[in-house]
Amino acid sequence: CGIIGRVGDGNAIEPLLTGLENLEYRGYDSAGIAVQNGSGIAVEKRSGKVDELKASIDGNATSLDGEVGIGHTRWSTHGPPTDENAHPHTDGTTDVAVVHNGIIENYAELKAELAEYGHEFTSDTDTEVIPHLIQFYLDEGMTNEAAFRKAIDELEGSYAVTAMLSGEDVLYAARQGSPLVVGIEDGEYFLASDVPAFLEYTDSVVYLEDGDVVIVDDDGVEFTDRSGEPVVREPETVDWDP
Ligand code: GLU
Repeated sequence: CGIIGRVGDGNAIEPLLTGLENLEYRGYDSAGIAVQNGSGIAVEKRSGKVDELKASIDGNATSLDGEVGIGHTRWSTHGPPTDENAHPHTDGTTDVAVVHNGIIENYAELKAELAEYGHEFTSDTDTEVIPHLIQFYLDEGMTNEAAFRKAIDELEGSYAVTAMLSGEDVLYAARQGSPLVVGIEDGEYFLASDVPAFLEYTDSVVYLEDGDVVIVDDDGVEFTDRSGEPVVREPETVDWDP
């Protein structure tokens, strides 16, 4: 239902939780965040409200210490609102974490194929196939960017997806049929399903289009199409009160 992602200096938890609170108006049943902590990706997620997530994070703040992260508020479509079904989803390792809005129509067949290669699933969601697909292509020797693109190519349905891979301060995102926007501030970048998520931090916004794939790191945002060709997306200044 709601996505937030953040790249920048300083701890990511506050902008991520602020983003989730700002997205609460959309309605949700579960919430979670994942952060690059230097030795991998740490995830904290649960069914319930952002306040409850905050309480769990308070007890676990050191493992979630990092500058780059993603967060999600879930409105269940596949699987009940349980802790396991909450996003971010991983492939069972600390290598890959993904948040997703929308529905992956072909998730059952992707899941069956991945299971044949030994991938084990722990949730009922359609989303969980995405981190497993990324890991599958990493195992084949692809670069992080190539593995993300190839995984996105396999998906049918509607999605806004943001992924983070261990060991690099980079966010990968793609949009097809579900909204996704980029927020741009000096040295700090955001991805979100809606502008209010990051309005306290920046009013400079790029609205992504269907088929866009973006790569965000400390140096900025690379806008491309599905085949990797650059596309031009100009930021606009939004005139909204936070
Ligand atoms: N289909 C996904 C799920 O059920 C994402 C739902 C959403 O957009 O929040 O977990």
